[in-house]
Amino acid sequence: MASPVIIRVYASSEGVARRAVRAAYDRMHALEMTLSDWMPESESNRLEAAAPEAIQISDDLRHAITVSTALHHDTDGAFDPTIGPLVELWRRTRTTGEMPGSEEIRDARNRVDPTALELRGSTARIAREDVEIDFGAIGKGIALDAASEILDAHGLGRHLINFDGEILVGDAPPERTAWQITILPAGDEDTLVIDAVQASVATSGGLNQFFELDGTRYSHIIDPSTGIGTNCARQVTVICDSATRADALATAGCVLETTRFEAILTTRFQGASAIVMENHGDNTGITMIGDPRVRALDAP
Ligand code: AMP
Ligand code: MG
Repeated sequence: MASPVIIRVYASSEGVARRAVRAAYDRMHALEMTLSDWMPESESNRLEAAAPEAIQISDDLRHAITVSTALHHDTDGAFDPTIGPLVELWRRTRTTGEMPGSEEIRDARNRVDPTALELRGSTARIAREDVEIDFGAIGKGIALDAASEILDAHGLGRHLINFDGEILVGDAPPERTAWQITILPAGDEDTLVIDAVQASVATSGGLNQFFELDGTRYSHIIDPSTGIGTNCARQVTVICDSATRADALATAGCVLETTRFEAILTTRFQGASAIVMENHGDNTGITMIGDPRVRALDAP
């Protein structure tokens, strides 16, 4: 996934810590070899290459497909693990600086079809040759959850894993009641701090991540219903007990309108909360969904 990972643990000895952390990194690497869209030899790319034939797949790939399909359903389609063709189209746009035509967008959109992902016994197939998988919005979360399980299995419940800004924390550090996670402001607002234990925090969008074309800003997150890069004036942070869900939901939160996102989060994802920052020209509006347990940096 070509992004930095930082693991912090508290252990009885350096040897114990080294072994556990090594195993956690190895687990994350193995998942990358399974889910990566960049590595031609990754298992998900092999599944694509075999389409429409079925192949034997690993438990990891099965799990990724199962949770992605469920999250697609539970976000009313805002998170879509087959967004691949549209991502490619907009990546190209970013390079060439030329807006894709409506036909091109329609063609790519027609290839976004999660119903083509089929699981049967120990095999899977993509029923359409032109459909592609993209775990870009959930892969880090899956890797974080898996690495955390490994650290727990080594008896290191007190840990923090930071995967390129996406964070999972286990039990609190010694003599503390929680980990403190800082959310950098979108504009010049206060820095927010989240006190977290056994939780994951994922942020998507971001007011500084966009490209501009003909005066309009597009983010790398695409609305599957229109096929167009979402308006980038949003940053969504999701806090919940699963890094996998936090990751996918933060991405979905950039696609969905805030009221709809709030309804989905509160009715379907018990215990999840979110911070939505929306830029309105000079000021940034902040909506808290659920109870993200945030405070301004200076507050006690
Ligand atoms: P994240 O940083 O977790 O929000 O993930 C962004 C990445 O997810 C993009 O670079 C795309 O590869 C992919 N992506 C973009 N839009 C969507 C979407 N609507 N659903 C699922 N994945 C998406
Ligand atoms: Mg995501």
